[in-house]
This record gives sequence, structure tokens and C-alpha cells, in this order.
Amino acid sequence: MSFELLLDAVLGERELFHVIDCTVCGSEEIYYVDPISKQQIGKACSQCGFVQKFEFDHQE
Ligand SMILES: [Zn+2]
Repeated sequence: MSFELLLDAVLGERELFHVIDCTVCGSEEIYYVDPISKQQIGKACSQCGFVQKFEFDHQE
């Protein structure tokens, strides 16, 4: 499975939020937001093959 497909599977619709240096490999670690709510939904490093989805409690 390609990394982009993995991102599609784990995070779904997403927009690039910001990029930092990955603390593990030094490559680009990318933070993503939901395109509509603009809430951060996860981060990923393609070099590490790492994807993390952020879970949120409803705050309403
Ligand atoms: Zn990395």
C-alpha cells in the first residue's frame, strides 16, 4: 500500500496544516487538518511510514 493510500485510509479528507522536522528521521513530518472544521486530525511522516490520527472529545 502506498503511503498516500495509507493516509487516505487513516485520515481521509485532509488539508496540509504545517510541516516540521521529524524527530525520528529528520525528514518532513506533516500535520493535517480537516478541510471543513480546520481541526487537526493527525500527523504523518512518509519517511518513517508513520501515521497518527488525533482523537478528540466533543467540546460542545
Ligand atoms: Zn520520520
